Amino acid sequence: MPEIERSDADWRANLSPEQYEVLRRAGTERPWSGKYVNEHTDGTYHCAACGAELFDSTAKYESGSGWPSFYEAKAAGAVELVEDVSHGMARTEVRCRRCGSHLGHLFPDGPAPTGQRFCMNSLALDLVSDVPGD
Ligand code: FE
Repeated sequence: MPEIERSDADWRANLSPEQYEVLRRAGTERPWSGKYVNEHTDGTYHCAACGAELFDSTAKYESGSGWPSFYEAKAAGAVELVEDVSHGMARTEVRCRRCGSHLGHLFPDGPAPTGQRFCMNSLALDLVSDVPGD
C-alpha cells in the first residue's frame, strides 16, 4: 500500500486536470509536449503529486522518444514497478512508491550503465533546481 493515501476528490482538488489524468488515471502526455523533454538544469525531479524525490538530473539522457528519460531512479525504493497489459501491450508501469501515482513506463532499451529507460511524463514530475535562486 502507498504511504500516502488520499481520496479521489482530494487528488482532483490538488492537481491540474492534465496532471490528474496522468498521475491518477495513468494517462500519457503527447510526445514532445512536456516541459522537461529538453530540460538540462541540474537538480532533482520530484513526484508532482506528493513531492517524493524520484530522479536525479544526472541520470537524465536524450532518448529521442519525446518524453523525459532517465536510466535509473534516484533510489531503488523511490518507484514501484507494476506489470501493465493495457492497450494490448505488455509493459512495466512505473509508479511513485510513496503515493502510488502513475509516472510512466520502464523499457529495457536504455543506455549504460543500467540499460534501462524510465520513460516519464513531464506532467508527473516537478524539477527542483540545484542552482540557488533558480
Ligand atoms: Fe508521489
